[in-house]
Amino acid sequence: MSGRPQATLAGCCWLVAMALLQACSTAPRGDGEAARAAASPGAAARPAYHTVRRGETLSQIARGYGLSLANLLEANTLANPDRIEIGDRLRLPAYAMPGASQRAFVWPLERWAVTSEFGARGGRHQGIDLGSPKGATVRAAGSGVVAFAGRKRGYGRVVILQHAGGVQTLYAHNRKNLVRRGEHVSQGQSIARVGQSGRATGSHLHFEFIIGGHKRNPRLYVSPALTASSASVR
Ligand SMILES: [Zn+2]
Repeated sequence: MSGRPQATLAGCCWLVAMALLQACSTAPRGDGEAARAAASPGAAARPAYHTVRRGETLSQIARGYGLSLANLLEANTLANPDRIEIGDRLRLPAYAMPGASQRAFVWPLERWAVTSEFGARGGRHQGIDLGSPKGATVRAAGSGVVAFAGRKRGYGRVVILQHAGGVQTLYAHNRKNLVRRGEHVSQGQSIARVGQSGRATGSHLHFEFIIGGHKRNPRLYVSPALTASSASVR
C-alpha cells in the first residue's frame, strides 16, 4: 500500500475515535438500557453482566465469552482496567457468547494456511480465508443443523450450519456441497469440498462465524490448540 491511503485511513480513524468519545460521554448508561440492548430476539431477556470472581483477569473473562479484550473494554467504562475487584460487574456486549472457551469449535480443514485474516481489506473481510488445495474435505467446526446449502452471490457454493446458542458457521467458495438443508451434522463431519466458486481468486475456504447476526473473528471461537497447529503448516 502507498502512503496516501494510509494517511486517509488515519484521518478517518481519528474521526471515528472522536465520534465514539462523543457517544460514550453523552449516551445514557442505565442498567435497564444495557439489559434491553443485550436481549436478542427469541432469547430469554436477562441482563448481560459478568460478576468478577477471585483470581480472574480481564483477558480470561473476555475469552470466556468469545470476546477480545478490546471488545470487553469497549463495552465498559473502567476507571483503571488494570485494577478490577471481586464483585465488580462488567457489562457484556450483545454478541457475547457465554461458555465460549469451553465450546471448542475446531478448524474446518485438516491442513491450511491463512491467506486473509478477519478484518482485512479495511475491515470489509468478514471471515477468514484458509488456503487449501481444490477438493480437500471441509468439516463441520461444531455439531449442528444445516441451515443453508446452495449458492449465494459472491460466496459461490456455500454451507451454513446452525449451532446451539444462536451461533452459525459459514463455509464458502466450495467446489461441491455434501450436505442438504435440515441435515444434522456432528463436529468434524464432511460437509463440502474446497473450491473457488463465487468471487474467489484461488482455491480456498472462506470461513465465517456469525453470532446473533454479527460476524465475528473465527479465531476467538476455534480451539486455540488447533490455531497453534495451523501456524506450523504455514
Ligand atoms: Zn474470504
